[in-house]
Amino acid sequence: MTDLPRIPLAGVIGHPIAHSRSPALHGFWLKRYGIKGHYIPMDVAPQDLKQALEMLPKLGFVGVNVTIPHKEAILEIADVITDRAALIGAANTLIFRKDGRLHADNTDGAGFMANLRQNAPLWSPAVGPAAVFGAGGAARAVIAALIEVGVPEIRIANRTRPRAEALRADFGAKLTVFDWVQAPNMLEGAATVINTTSLGMAGKSDFRVPLDALESSALVTDLVYNPLKTHLLLEAEAKGCTVVDGLGMLLHQAAPGFERWFGTRPEVDEATRNAVLTA
Ligand code: NAP
Repeated sequence: MTDLPRIPLAGVIGHPIAHSRSPALHGFWLKRYGIKGHYIPMDVAPQDLKQALEMLPKLGFVGVNVTIPHKEAILEIADVITDRAALIGAANTLIFRKDGRLHADNTDGAGFMANLRQNAPLWSPAVGPAAVFGAGGAARAVIAALIEVGVPEIRIANRTRPRAEALRADFGAKLTVFDWVQAPNMLEGAATVINTTSLGMAGKSDFRVPLDALESSALVTDLVYNPLKTHLLLEAEAKGCTVVDGLGMLLHQAAPGFERWFGTRPEVDEATRNAVLTA
C-alpha cells in the first residue's frame, strides 16, 4: 500500500469553546486556498490540558490555538517559548515540532498592530502618548507591541490598580499608572486610545469613561469586536477621530498560525471579515 500524506489538523483549545470564531475563520481560509486540512474546536478542561497536548501530535495535529483559560498555563508546559510570549506571560499559538518539542508563541500584539496598520495607514505610533484602558492579558500584548514600535509614553488605568502597577513593573518607565477614576485625564494629548477591557462587549456594561479630553486627531481602537461599533468607537467617531474596530486584530492574530500549520500566508480582507461575521 502506498503511503498517503497525512492531512494536517489544527484547532483551538479552550474551556468553554463553543463561542470561538476561530473555526469559521480558519475554515474559510482552508477552503479559499484549497488546502486539505481541518481546524477543530476542542473543549479541554484545565486538568486535561497536558495530556491533550501530548496526544494531539500523535493524531495528526500540527498545532493549535489556545484560549481562555489556558493562555498562561501553557507556558508551564511548552518546551520552547518565544521572547514575546515570555514577555507577555501568555501564549495563543502552539506548534507541534517534528522533534517532538512544543513551541509556544503569542501573536496578539502583532495582530493588534497589523489591524491598525491595515485600517489606519496614516497613523503613526511615534507621534504621541498612548492611553490604555485595562490591564488584563490583552493589555499586556498591546503594551508589548506599542513599546516595540516606539510609542513615546503609555498611560494606563485599570479598575483594579495593582494590575496596572504590575504592568509598569514588567514593562518599565514608559508607563504611567492613572487611577481608574482619573482615567479621563489620560486622554489629554493622547495620540492613540485603546480599550482593552471587556467593557462594551455584548452582555457587559458599556464603556462610559467621559471623552471630553479626547482630541479629534487621535486614533481610537477597541479590542471588543462584538458589537463591531462599540459605544466608545461611536462616540470617538462623532468627535472626528479615526476609529478601528477589534475584529481585524482577531483575524490578523490568526494568520501566523495558519501559515505555520498549513504553509500559506492567508490574506485578511473584506471577504475574510464577512466570513467570520456571518458564521
Ligand atoms: P482579562 O485578562 O480578563 O482582562 C479583563 C479586563 O477588563 C481587565 O482590565 C478588567 O479589569 C477589565 N474589566 C472587566 N470588567 C470591568 C468593569 N466592569 N469595569 C472596569 N473594568 C473591567 O481579559 P483579556 O484577555 O485581557 O480580554 C479583554 C477584552 O479584550 C475582552 O473583551 C476580549 O474579548 C478582548 N480581546 C480581543 C482580542 C481581539 O483579537 N480583538 C484579543 C484578545 C482579547 P480588572 O483587572 O479590574 O478586573
